[in-house]
Amino acid sequence: MKWKQQIHGMKAYQPGKPMEEVKAMYQLEEVVKLASNENPFGCSPQVKAYLENMNVDHAIYPDGYAQSLRTIMADHFNISEDMLIFGNGSDDLIAIITRALLYPGVNTVMATPSFSQYKHNAIIEGAEVREIPLINGAHDLQAMLAAIDKQTSVIWICSPNNPTGVVIPDKALRTFLQQVPKDVLVVLDEAYCEYVQDEEHTSTIPLLAKYDNVISLRTFSKAYGLAGFRVGYGIAHPAIIAKLDPVRAPFNNTVLGQNVAKIAIKDQAFITQCIEANEAGKRQFEAFCDKHDLHYYPSATNFILFEIKTDSDIVFQKLMERGFIVRSGKALGVPNYLRVTIGTKAQNEAFFTQLEAVLEEQGVLV
Ligand SMILES: *Cc1c(COP(=O)(O)O)cnc(C)c1O
Repeated sequence: MKWKQQIHGMKAYQPGKPMEEVKAMYQLEEVVKLASNENPFGCSPQVKAYLENMNVDHAIYPDGYAQSLRTIMADHFNISEDMLIFGNGSDDLIAIITRALLYPGVNTVMATPSFSQYKHNAIIEGAEVREIPLINGAHDLQAMLAAIDKQTSVIWICSPNNPTGVVIPDKALRTFLQQVPKDVLVVLDEAYCEYVQDEEHTSTIPLLAKYDNVISLRTFSKAYGLAGFRVGYGIAHPAIIAKLDPVRAPFNNTVLGQNVAKIAIKDQAFITQCIEANEAGKRQFEAFCDKHDLHYYPSATNFILFEIKTDSDIVFQKLMERGFIVRSGKALGVPNYLRVTIGTKAQNEAFFTQLEAVLEEQGVLV
């Protein structure tokens, strides 16, 4: 068959092992997943109440334009409705952007390590990928600018960055945007923006009305605790949205996904509570790292990337046998580090006990 040349040898995304499988494999009573940065507190109680009583006709297609969700989101951000596009998670939007703008002969610029899907999708479309190493966990914006040439089509900025958690300060972002050529799309992946407490960081929404070559990608999967429903969205100048919309699949959200998103966005009190708990959890992790002299990156998110001073694949495996699923830094391009989702207070404490035991076994801690 006539497969695209570039998909030869490509592997599907490797998700962590499902909790049920880990439970059965190691005969564990409880397994805690701190691997994919989902919200350990779940979702808004109002969403749960809706789901208990919902009465949706599953025989009917969803509204492909997501009109009622669109109106609510536009009100929430005080933007016009034509500045929004919805996706089956922001992963879907990454694929839509790539499909619309990348092809053989153009190139795309991204940081490394960063979120894996930018590169994965760019390779499928046959574009050249230009990866610019991070500096201390942060995007090297100067080097990214320098990598742009006439054939550059898309530049990916993940802020806060996955896997380091480092956020780009406003001033640096503004200076960068001013210098990017107007015919290059800047994708600002802000999957964790709700968690950012950094004083040097304000909402990027005002920038999106000003620049007609920037799109912000956001999601209900992380702070809103609705990863299972697959709802992501993009905010950009209407001219960008108008170009991307025809590339989208006609019904790329479910009826239930749209309905829970509408409820979740209105419960900002829940988000505020989660952010406070996350900040406290982050301090637990920082104290743990300080106590054991382990380097960590300053995280603006609900996960933290820290040093374990030994092979992270081994520590990942040993932690799984003890009931904690995390991400090995090796798989993320940061060997000898772990990326761990900040859990509830009790989950964090239980995790530290197990990690200390593993690191003692490995001879890292004495
Ligand atoms: C989790 C994540 C996504 C994908 O989120 P979905 O909306 O669930 O597809 C995108 N970007 C980053 C940086 C993420 O961490």
